[in-house]
Parts: sequence; structure tokens; C-alpha cells
Amino acid sequence: MVEDITALETTALGSLTAAEHRSDRQALEQWRLTYLGSQGQIRQLMRCIGQLPLEERRTFGSAVQSLAQRLEVAYKASEQRVSDRLLNRELEAERIDVTLPGRPHAQGLIHPLRQTLSDVVRAFANLGFQAVEGPEVEWDTYNFELLNIPANHPARDMWDTLWITDRMLLRTHTSPMQVRTMRMASATARRQGNEPPALRIVVPGRTYRYEQVDATHESQFMQLEGLLVDHQSSFSDLKGVLTDVARQLFGQARKTRFRCDYFPFVEPGAELAMDCFACEGRDPHCRVCHGSGWIEILGCGMVHPKVLENGGYDPQRYRGFAFGLGIERITMLRHGIDDIRLFYLNDVQLWRQVRYAPGAPRSWNREVPE
Ligand SMILES: [Zn+2]
Repeated sequence: MVEDITALETTALGSLTAAEHRSDRQALEQWRLTYLGSQGQIRQLMRCIGQLPLEERRTFGSAVQSLAQRLEVAYKASEQRVSDRLLNRELEAERIDVTLPGRPHAQGLIHPLRQTLSDVVRAFANLGFQAVEGPEVEWDTYNFELLNIPANHPARDMWDTLWITDRMLLRTHTSPMQVRTMRMASATARRQGNEPPALRIVVPGRTYRYEQVDATHESQFMQLEGLLVDHQSSFSDLKGVLTDVARQLFGQARKTRFRCDYFPFVEPGAELAMDCFACEGRDPHCRVCHGSGWIEILGCGMVHPKVLENGGYDPQRYRGFAFGLGIERITMLRHGIDDIRLFYLNDVQLWRQVRYAPGAPRSWNREVPE
């Protein structure tokens, strides 16, 4: 019987070494089941103890017991060595070179529309105008009626409107904020027992129209509205403010021209043009002014007394002027872009190519990150 134990030990250790040599986890597990498992060989030997003569039981029993311990120890040691070896192999395979330089991230740039918008807002801020924003989904009342454009007024045809319900729409201009701001200011003042305050605001934001989209028309575009209200402002103040802003944006040498135009919420109304910054009127084939020498940039006028009244300002004691300009148009002029649809392509590569129009003020030629 003792020989059996010695033979078993030799075989067991032999196959354990072989499995360890191959770093074969499965073989190791198989080995454990064969020798140390609940149906394993050690258990079988133990079961034989009962059949032995009484005097042999003790010796045999302790021999099996110590064999079991030796096999257990040998197994644990092999298992550990195999685990270590496999782990090292894995680490070796996944090694990362932390000294390699990182991959550069593509740097974005400010969208030309956003850039123009902030330049225009800054130009007006220099003259004391404060920027305010309003809702893009607007009531008919604010978008039309309070701006002196009642239902069935022919002037409504000037705005192709996107309606949400029969009284609610996507604002067709940022002008609703004229009345909203005046009403808020006059109501607050009245509650406190004060006169309505003087106002100087610009309203940048998105506007919407039901347009056939082409190179110069988009159904969504950006506008900047402006309003000044006080006791003594005049048309010459309007001319002064807008000429100053045109010069801030397009160069100090700019000349401006005001011509009559019609907008229902101003009286009188005018259209502002400036002399062409690209050719200064000298090139009959100029791409910017098409040879006319003048570029129309915005609409403006003295606030209509009805609009002042709708805002809670007494038209006998207050007066003011308003203006509105298209950010897309200004941006197209600045960059020499001839298709409005390009603005919404979201193509960074395209904007990297954008440079400023010929003859543009040097201050525009900011660095464009490559
Ligand atoms: Zn020109």
C-alpha cells in the first residue's frame, strides 16, 4: 500500500510539472480535480482506510494525509507561478509608451456670423447701447399689431410668416422687442411713480421667414434691431449714430447715404447705404457694389408715435429712432461671400478659407487658426 502512495505521488507531481510547463490553466484545473477533487484519487485512497486491518489504518491514514498536503502545496505553488507568468505576458503585450506625443485636437473657430454679431454689438455698446434678447416664438400682437401693422394691413405682405397657431408665429424680425422693452420699462417706472426711462438697446437674434431659399434668401437668419428713446433725439442723432457704427465696422473713411424707405413702425423711414469699401466707386465691375459705388446696409427711421404709445411712452414727450440690420448681409460683405446658404453648412474647412473682402479694414484680418 505504501508503494502505491509513492507511485501516485511520482505520477501526480510529474503531470503537475508538465501542466505548469505549458502554462496551461485548464490542465492545472483538471489535475486538481483528478487528485484533490471530491471524486479524486486522494479521496479514493481515504475511502480504502476502512477496509484495512486495524493495525495498518493509522500508518496508512497519516501517509495519505501527508501526501494530500504535499500535493496541495505543490499545486498552489504551480498555480501561482502560472498566474504570474500569464499576467506578465499580458502586461508585456499591452505595454503603453507614455513618452509618445499626444494626438493634437482639431481647433475650432468662431463662426463668421457669430463674429460679426459680436463686432456689431460691440460697435453699438461703444455708444451706450445695451444688448437684450427676446423670444423667437412670438405673439402676432408683438410681431405685428403693436408695431403698427394691424391684421389685413397690406404691409403684412412684406413678411412671409411661419405660423405656429393663428395667433403665434416664429418672429419675422427682432422688432417685437421694441415694444416689449418699452412696455417693461414704462410699467416698472409707473409702479415706482417715475417717468418712463430713456432707452438704448440693441436686440441680436434669430428670425424666421417663409422664403424660397436661394443664394440671398434663407428661411432662418440673424438680425440686429436697435432702439433709442428719450426726450430730444432727432433724425440727425440717428444719422450720427449709424454713420459712426458703419465706420467702426467698415473703416473710418466710410461715407453714408440716407434715402427714403418705408417701414410701418417708423416715420419717416430711411435706408442707409455706405460708399463701397472695396472700390470706393471707381470700379464699374466691382463684385461688392456691382458698380453702383454704394452698398445698402440697413433700414432705419424715427419711431412711429403709435409704437411709442403702444410701449407706454407718451409720443408728445418722447421720441426715438430704430434700425434693423441683417447679420448675414454684413458678414457676406465683410468676407466677400456670395451665397447665404454656406453659413449653415457647418463646414470648418470652408471657414478656414474665408478671408476678408478686398479693401477691408486691416482690423478685420485677424489670425485664423490653421
Ligand atoms: Zn464697389
